[in-house]
Amino acid sequence: LVVLGIETSCDDTAAAVVRSNGEILSQVVSSQVDLLAKYGGVAPKMAEEAHSQVIDQVVQDALDKANLTESDLSAVAVTIGPGLSLCLRVGVQKARKIAAIHQLPIVGVHHMEAHALVARLCKRDLQFPFMALLISGGHNLIVLARDLGDYLQLGTTIDDAIGEAYDKSAKWLGLDLRKSGGAAIEELALRGDAQSVKFSVPMKQHKDCNFSYAGLKTQLRLAIESKNIDGGVPFSSASVEEQGIRADIAASFQRVAVLHLEEKCERAIQWALEIEPSIKHLVVAGGVASNQYVRSRLQEVVGRNSLQLVCPPPSLCTDNGVMIAWTGIENFRMGRFDPPPPAIEPEDSQLDLRPRWPLGEEYGRGRSVAR
Ligand code: ATP
Ligand code: FE
Repeated sequence: LVVLGIETSCDDTAAAVVRSNGEILSQVVSSQVDLLAKYGGVAPKMAEEAHSQVIDQVVQDALDKANLTESDLSAVAVTIGPGLSLCLRVGVQKARKIAAIHQLPIVGVHHMEAHALVARLCKRDLQFPFMALLISGGHNLIVLARDLGDYLQLGTTIDDAIGEAYDKSAKWLGLDLRKSGGAAIEELALRGDAQSVKFSVPMKQHKDCNFSYAGLKTQLRLAIESKNIDGGVPFSSASVEEQGIRADIAASFQRVAVLHLEEKCERAIQWALEIEPSIKHLVVAGGVASNQYVRSRLQEVVGRNSLQLVCPPPSLCTDNGVMIAWTGIENFRMGRFDPPPPAIEPEDSQLDLRPRWPLGEEYGRGRSVAR
């Protein structure tokens, strides 16, 4: 099997070609970093236009790099949710066009399932059940992956995701957003004193596995204000002394943001082992999992609990087409795909988009989770 994966759920236009033996034939990502840096966030209409402008080229590049043409493909996999519907539509229309012309089956992929499952491409003997902590710009999920398409959600964020907090701190500290905000904070934090600003760890009193980053964002904003830092002044233009203060804030923020992950993971592992004592692995994926500090702290937690940490390489943690193609392959093998679309699609045909699409059922729903 050779599968093309297409991803347009948020601000990256990505495509990749992957073989069912796990061989990555090509991988192409076009990021809207310049738009993001300019406007400080994702505006759906602008993101849609940016996807539309590059989608044909991104897919063509992925095929060229793989030395293949559309007619060599066995199937097309595409993200159908969760995400911005305007953006999802661009990828789905492209996928359906290719599938219609070459009469290929289509697999509609869950973006967060793909973040988790790409770990099974990286580590081929990773078996279900396993745990997954998915940390990205829009999600903060900890799940028990029982089987393909079968997830038990142990915890989620009650407000913001950790990636959102990283992005805002980078913006407020005047960092260069052309890399991701997260990568900019990670780099700056290396130069700072992580103990210098006293942030409090969120949700300490909640004996659950849920996350919250909105309060930490507020603490951070107040700290920035109290030190008279003007984020409108780029980091490189700030005085050496002020650069030091900004680095201290970044390091202190990162320490507490990750402590929150550590504490909730520790509890989630206990819960998961009660449900499925055979679990051996914790997968950590999503954009924030490319952070080395995050990885090393979670390595400690996982080691203490006699589990193994599985972290895809950074290029497979941030949004990419490989994870979509691979999740397509996993589903295709199980017979989960849609037949090829009609060669000529009616103008008004409804696309199956799922902008809000939970990953599995919530653990403890309908009964007390207090422990
Ligand atoms: P979602 O997956 O929730 O739909 P998304 O697809 O936009 O959101 P990803 O591409 O998976 O998110 O991840 C992007 C996020 O990862 C951003 O918030 C970014 O700041 C963060 N990120 C990327 N690299 C790092 C890093 N080195 N350290 C911390 N955060 C990082
Ligand atoms: Fe993502």
